[in-house]
Amino acid sequence: MNINLAINEGSKILKKKFITNPLLDAEILMAKTINKDRNYILLNSSNSINKNDLNNFYKLIEQRSLGNPVAYLIKKKSFWKSEFFITKGALIPRPDTELVVENILRLTKQKSKINILDIGVGSGCIIVSILKERENFRGTGIDLSKKCLIISKKNAIAQKVSSRLKLYKSDVDKFNLGKYDLIVSNPPYIKTCKFKYLEKDVAEFEPRLALDGGLDGLSEIRKVIKKSSELIKKNGKLILEIGFDQKNKVKNLLKKEGFYIDSTQKDLADNDRCIISTKI
Ligand code: GLN
Repeated sequence: MNINLAINEGSKILKKKFITNPLLDAEILMAKTINKDRNYILLNSSNSINKNDLNNFYKLIEQRSLGNPVAYLIKKKSFWKSEFFITKGALIPRPDTELVVENILRLTKQKSKINILDIGVGSGCIIVSILKERENFRGTGIDLSKKCLIISKKNAIAQKVSSRLKLYKSDVDKFNLGKYDLIVSNPPYIKTCKFKYLEKDVAEFEPRLALDGGLDGLSEIRKVIKKSSELIKKNGKLILEIGFDQKNKVKNLLKKEGFYIDSTQKDLADNDRCIISTKI
């Protein structure tokens, strides 16, 4: 069996199970199996593949056909300018969240030394990307999930920012350490009743803790805003990722806690996705 044939077989299996990008996924899983990059696979598609590798490849294809996301199967995901280590237990970094990073970098262009808090740090994709680009900034990340803290620590070490990132296992309500120039959060914001409409890959494999925003989708955002108003310095910035239909409600919550709304930003799909505010 050669690489090309195996990929085509794998792709057919995925297609039958209605996986959206069957060929691309099969190529990526083949690359993982033989420990090469996708370019190598495309350039060496007529090379033969040994029995052991073929077996492992089909195991990955089977996992993928059940909905297991590619990022969990290959244990990595590209985000902003780095490749992040990801395993089940951490939300897979989304392109939409790069909008949050982009805004923070824009807002902090002139700053030399600031202290940033990331509430619900997850894989660390936001805070690690920022610290990597701003070598004098310091960060703190909190998360309820021990597993996420292990993953974010690993990413901080891989991207060489770990000496500037403190990580704590804590509920947002109970965290009372420090004062911050900037606070960022991509909290869970999906309404519990909308779970049944999520893609199977997301609903069945990604951590509910990172997605479920309670009955109205705002229960965690409320806590984040309340806590941020206590921990943020005067004139500090709060940058939040929000659901596509939450802009007005979140604006009101922010105003109630003494924040001025600077702007809201749309994601690639033209949905309101990010709110920037200032503590006054
Ligand atoms: N944007 C994510 C999704 O649609 C949700 C992320 C979140 O709740 N913070 O899957």
